[in-house]
Amino acid sequence: MNDTRTAIVTGAARGIGAEVARRLAGDGMAVAVLDLDESVCAVVAKGITEAGGRSIAIGADVADEAAVQDAVDRVAAELGTPTVLVNNAGIIRDNLLFRMSVDDWDAVMNVHLRGAFLMSRAVQKHMTEAGFGRIINLSSTSALGNRGQANYAAAKAGIQGFTKTLANELGKFGVTANAIAPGFIETEMTAATAERMGMTFEDFKAGAAAQIPVARTGRPEDIAHAVSFFASEAAGFVSGQVLYVAGGPVS
Ligand code: NAP
Repeated sequence: MNDTRTAIVTGAARGIGAEVARRLAGDGMAVAVLDLDESVCAVVAKGITEAGGRSIAIGADVADEAAVQDAVDRVAAELGTPTVLVNNAGIIRDNLLFRMSVDDWDAVMNVHLRGAFLMSRAVQKHMTEAGFGRIINLSSTSALGNRGQANYAAAKAGIQGFTKTLANELGKFGVTANAIAPGFIETEMTAATAERMGMTFEDFKAGAAAQIPVARTGRPEDIAHAVSFFASEAAGFVSGQVLYVAGGPVS
């Protein structure tokens, strides 16, 4: 039953992660809100608690092996056995290849790939012992290739291979792994891209919406809804999938 489940959502201080944390709490889960800055996480956790849910705030860098282990230990001790993990923490360091620094490349790989690996490895012990687990990884339509995002596209494509491998390895323990690949979602991440391109966010969104079959840009709730499905008890026969949540088909 969902009300016995504890979830960890990374990058949950804002944007998609914060909305996912609120949605899983609304589904009856206890939710650990994990992000770099614990004080910002605390605002999201407080909102969940005030709405009648259970939540704690955890400050941790998902790319730091020791911090990840400490964070997972804390969740298990203070909130409950973590059996739902949403690897959502992410950054962009966009640039055309000839201008992309090694730091830009490494930073993106570290948060998305190393972070998802460290979190999943630390949490799988709890999931396999419980005989139940749901790992949901945030990919992106950029996995299919996107100008100016060689680092991010490689990381988000890597997330898909990582997800399918976890599905293969962990399925027999009752653990599923799936990826969600959002298209354009209105968050500070896309607002920062608009700014970098010298456009207002409204113009940037309108331009994107014109290319999207459902004629609008996405919102964090659109992703939270998909996460809620993959995290549910009833989704146990759905594993190793990549769900594009992009307002239309992508290719
Ligand atoms: P966002 O608003 O920038 O939020 C990302 C969060 O992750 C931030 O709170 C950030 O903290 C945190 N974070 C960054 N590095 C971290 C680390 N090392 N350890 C822990 N937390 C870290 O981004 P978003 O738009 O909600 O995106 C969430 C996820 O969806 C990302 O994986 C992103 O790549 C993916 N996605 C987004 C879109 C979109 O259109 N928005 C589309 C496709 C995929 P700081 O603010 O302190 O850096």
